[in-house]
Amino acid sequence: MNFADLTSPEIDVLHRGPTPVLLLPVGAVEPHGPHAPLDTDSIISTTVCERVAWELAGESAMRVLVLPPIRYGVTRYAAAFPGAVSISEAALETLVIDVCTAVREQGFRHVVLVNSHFEPEHVAVLRRVAERGHAVLFDVTRRRVAERLTEEFRSGSAHAGRYETSVVLAARPELVDAKRMHGLPEHPVDMPAAIAAGKTDFIAMGMDEAYCGAPADATAAEGEKTLATLSAMLVDLIRDRITV
Ligand SMILES: [Zn+2]
Repeated sequence: MNFADLTSPEIDVLHRGPTPVLLLPVGAVEPHGPHAPLDTDSIISTTVCERVAWELAGESAMRVLVLPPIRYGVTRYAAAFPGAVSISEAALETLVIDVCTAVREQGFRHVVLVNSHFEPEHVAVLRRVAERGHAVLFDVTRRRVAERLTEEFRSGSAHAGRYETSVVLAARPELVDAKRMHGLPEHPVDMPAAIAAGKTDFIAMGMDEAYCGAPADATAAEGEKTLATLSAMLVDLIRDRITV
């Protein structure tokens, strides 16, 4: 299931079987409140990719594999908090394009970017890469897609709250500081509205602990449900957009 777990001869054999489809998880190293790991976005992307690869493992026409994730992203909004490690738009663009080009030169024509970090400058890079035909982008910030996600996500309180924390509780529970999580008051912030109003960092948005929404209400059960929804949408995208 993981591309990089295979040996070189095993990669070669892929070209003689069902059409390979490579999923590239994308995240960011970014503070997610005082309770969730910096790696939250990569954990979400990677888990969705792995579930989809598992779900489609029986397909006769395609073979889905997960590339090693791109765990660094453009993350300036969280710059005031310890642990924010941002790369530039240019670096992200080069990295994603180089990976897509390298696998294409190896004969892999289908790459799907699966992103879970929604800072507009970061998403813009991925959209640009997709528009230029390097890859297909699974973009959950599109309204049609977001409508199928939880109420908190749709409200715009989409950072380190109930939505994201629930997914981490489902995927990597040992990385959530549950004691701190349960003590956090609900803090609704409409992030898209704040961004549209020109606020470009968490502090200006009133997120003085680098989270919004209601992380104390997060549960692994909700995270499982969200992972199932995201996986189903990614399967639909692969079936719609990838011609095997
Ligand atoms: Zn996040």
